[in-house]
Amino acid sequence: MDSPATSSQSAATLLRRIPAVDELLNRPALRELEERIGHRLAVEVTRKVLQSLRDRISQGSVAEISPEELEQEILKEARTAAGFSLQPVINATGVILHTNLGRAPIAREALEHLVEAAAGYSNLEYDLEHGERGKRDVHTERLVGRLLGAERALVVNNNAAAVLLALNSLAEGAEVVVSRGELIEIGGSFRIPDVCAKSGAVLREVGTTNRTRVGDYAAAINERTRVLLRVHPSNFRVVGFTERPALDELVELARRQNLLLMEDLGSGCLIDLRQQGIQDESPAGLSLQAGADVVTFSGDKLLGGPQAGILAGKREPLERIRKNPMFRALRVDKLTIAALEATISIYLQGRLDSIPALRMIRISKDQIAVRAGRFAARVSACPGFTAALRDGESVIGGGSTPGQALETSLVVVSHRQHSAAKLEEALRHGNPPILGRVEHDEFLIDLRTVNESEEEIIVQAFEKAFSHQSSFISSR
Ligand SMILES: *Cc1c(COP(=O)(O)O)cnc(C)c1O
Repeated sequence: MDSPATSSQSAATLLRRIPAVDELLNRPALRELEERIGHRLAVEVTRKVLQSLRDRISQGSVAEISPEELEQEILKEARTAAGFSLQPVINATGVILHTNLGRAPIAREALEHLVEAAAGYSNLEYDLEHGERGKRDVHTERLVGRLLGAERALVVNNNAAAVLLALNSLAEGAEVVVSRGELIEIGGSFRIPDVCAKSGAVLREVGTTNRTRVGDYAAAINERTRVLLRVHPSNFRVVGFTERPALDELVELARRQNLLLMEDLGSGCLIDLRQQGIQDESPAGLSLQAGADVVTFSGDKLLGGPQAGILAGKREPLERIRKNPMFRALRVDKLTIAALEATISIYLQGRLDSIPALRMIRISKDQIAVRAGRFAARVSACPGFTAALRDGESVIGGGSTPGQALETSLVVVSHRQHSAAKLEEALRHGNPPILGRVEHDEFLIDLRTVNESEEEIIVQAFEKAFSHQSSFISSR
């Protein structure tokens, strides 16, 4: 062991005391590491840790060198270097379909079906009954048909792809009529006018930002018009003096003029969420019942399944879409088909709480408050911490249900010495990373998006946060 920290240890002395790479790698824990990740990577991470130590010595921020601390640093660095970049995190933000955190977590059954389909061979494109080539569409089409009453259904990579593919198949070189109130941009640079342009269709804007009537659509129709497009406004809401034609009116206009009515529903809500206070999401089945020819929606928003874009509707337009060579470029793999098939099966069986996103939406504030109370008591027992409950809001996110929130019970966590920003950072840098919310200098945890089994991990993270600081980075 090195001598205890004294301010008399000069930088030169400390630099001389830095152990050699080989010496460190000969420590039992690191020998084991070397066996696990290989000599080259072990040397690389050790060198990196020693270089950072040298830098800190030069800055005068090191009091003492401890080989034990170095060993821990090297093991931590090796976990990062040899570990995956994509890793699970705990979402304590209360944003259910958090786009940056992978939107919807998929159901356990979906996961199991996916593993089963991925680990071996499957009848992905094989008709077992007739012993001949089949189509990958059948697996999901059957279920979407039953659930939504669609004659045909196709699955592509995401809803952006579904809209692009549908417009290209149905209106390339022709005109598509869209209300100015629906020319939206959603995150990730998906803009309706741009997608329309890329599809080769010509956009014909009608109405105004806040008011569009069915007569505005009618007046824009000419011999080049093929599609009336209705778009769910997703992530914004126009309030006040507004008007939008009812779907029935557009269906009737499309019929009369022999045009197709297409609706981009965005979030893929399949059930009525009005009981949860969610008003603006019209279930996809209702649009088809009302007479829309084609609807498109995402698989990983309110539907709560894997990333996918679903096209459903009438036979004729869907068959044209299926024949488009672009379909081949946008189609999904067996993993997505398996996860989506299992997710839709859960809907058909009415077991909505088996779908994580729906379960999180449907938990009541009171249920969350009970958990939050127990959780806050445990956090308050961690040295330096206090936790209290406060009424607040969770959001669904993922560009759905704008302006609508779910009531929740938040846990406000504070620390005797450290700011909310420091708390946030400490938890974010943990293993697994835990993401909370910082609002007005307060650190907030919303248990709505946290599994009960994850509560223990969060409490442990608070226990460990700030409890030890490595001696060679401790400041003087
Ligand atoms: C989210 C959304 C899209 C894009 O869906 P992705 O599945 O993310 O590609 C398109 N249109 C609307 C209205 C949306 O809300």
